[in-house]
Amino acid sequence: MLGAMQDWDLRVTRIVDHAARENGPRELVSRWADGSETRTNWAEIRHEALRMVQALRRLGIGPGDRIATLAMNHTRHLVSWYGAIGIGGILHTLNPRLFDDQLEYIVNHAEDRVLCYDAAFQPIVDRMRSRWPTVEHYICFDSAAQERHFEDWIAAEDGDAHWAGGDERDPCMLCYTSGTTGNPKGVLYEHRSTMLHAIASLQPAVFDFDATAVMLPVVPMFHAASWGLPWSGAACGVKFVFSAVNDPAVLCDLLHREGVTHAAGVPTVWLSMLQHLDATGEDLGKLRRVICGGSAMPRAMIARFEGMDIDVGHAWGMTETSPIGTTGSRPWNWDALSFEQRVDAKALQGRVPFGVELRCVDLDDPTKTLPRDGKTAGALQVRGPWVIKRYFKAEADAALSPEQWFDTGDVAVIHADGNLQLTDRTKDVIKSGGEWISSVELENAAVGHPAVAEAAAIGIAHPKWDERPILVVVRKPGAEVEAQDILGFLADKVAKWWLPDAVEFVDEIPHTGTGKISKKDLREQFRDYRLS
Ligand code: ADP
Repeated sequence: MLGAMQDWDLRVTRIVDHAARENGPRELVSRWADGSETRTNWAEIRHEALRMVQALRRLGIGPGDRIATLAMNHTRHLVSWYGAIGIGGILHTLNPRLFDDQLEYIVNHAEDRVLCYDAAFQPIVDRMRSRWPTVEHYICFDSAAQERHFEDWIAAEDGDAHWAGGDERDPCMLCYTSGTTGNPKGVLYEHRSTMLHAIASLQPAVFDFDATAVMLPVVPMFHAASWGLPWSGAACGVKFVFSAVNDPAVLCDLLHREGVTHAAGVPTVWLSMLQHLDATGEDLGKLRRVICGGSAMPRAMIARFEGMDIDVGHAWGMTETSPIGTTGSRPWNWDALSFEQRVDAKALQGRVPFGVELRCVDLDDPTKTLPRDGKTAGALQVRGPWVIKRYFKAEADAALSPEQWFDTGDVAVIHADGNLQLTDRTKDVIKSGGEWISSVELENAAVGHPAVAEAAAIGIAHPKWDERPILVVVRKPGAEVEAQDILGFLADKVAKWWLPDAVEFVDEIPHTGTGKISKKDLREQFRDYRLS
């Protein structure tokens, strides 16, 4: 027997309709790279997206086609998401910080037919055009100099159109992982998965916003779908404040002038913002909630925000999880915790919202599920309706166990209150004498030394212990520090057998296109290194 409720397929264009219908006059602001600002509202955004639907159809673009963007955050970029998905197409966000070879691989793998881009990225387009044979149409968001201008292109249409219909399991977005290992891999989100991710994001424990919120998504729209904010924000009817530049002075000015209450970004963004506050004596205005993820948020930063009465959501996720995994929601004993205990709790990677399941399994025997005891580290696995099943164009399912658990590649401990603590990535843990050493914990301890700008720990083959850690360090400019000083500093911070066998100083540690340390390149650099 089937149930007897209505057919309301979970297609995300419904979110755009809702935003325009229920919060139509609610404002959205774009601050452009040249310093100018434009204002629009949810009703207008929907109308423009429908114009784009007509303009795309006129170009012969249809359901299933890939439409790429290479752009910073602004309202035209938002319109292009809704327009591309509105014709039944697949919106593919490109990260302009990737290397040319990666951009070539990704666009060809995705077979993008249209590219909408910012004039600031014209040099990338000029360089890559001959290497992107599938791209037939180039549309520039903010300059008419060379290509079709986005505004003129859609202005030729009247917006009297309908979204394409289809199945809720149809794909709607494509995001590639940055490829810290091997080639980038595409994650193909569905209407249904994106809709459920958006609805789940309305739980207070996630972004904690409603229609009164003024949201500044510093996290770029090309970074893991801007953590889904273009959907959850539209579902709430928030006022979005977009900035095409991430300079802290510009962001701080916007925070004040637009009355921003909520913001989301990676730790480096907040690091430079706090330095800006120190230098200028400014404050953060009405800001009351900060969501921070992508890499670990330092404890001192959390203490600083919480001390300003700003609620920190320390989030963990990945492109493969749409990306919300955890969001730093408060544990049930929150009211009984002291300030320091609260900061300790938030320094961990947080608790899941409803809709995400986590577990850790033994690193050597994945059939063994580990206890949530706050001390046993294992391979972190995740499952849920917005977690990947299979990479784009892959023949086989992704790293899935028979019960559909996806292997995240992270190593973690889960605490009794559900709080997740990441300790490493599976490929980076160092195995010494049959025991695991966390490279991340070594690095965190090392960067506490005042002369250390950056540190990375990697395992080096060892005849007796299998592997032993070495620490690669970049000194702060002008700082004088030697290996013995660092080892002495670490001595009371990590277990004795974790102490690196050597400390090597370098001018630079290699990074990926998303700014994370590339252990793959570092290991390559130290391939012939021998421990004496
Ligand atoms: P990539 O792995 O290709 O860089 P993602 O942007 O999807 O692409 O990164 C996901 C990874 O980032 C996670 O698997 C995890 O290792 C790391 N990460 C995300 N959030 C956090 C966090 N709050 N603390 C520590 N690491 C994090």
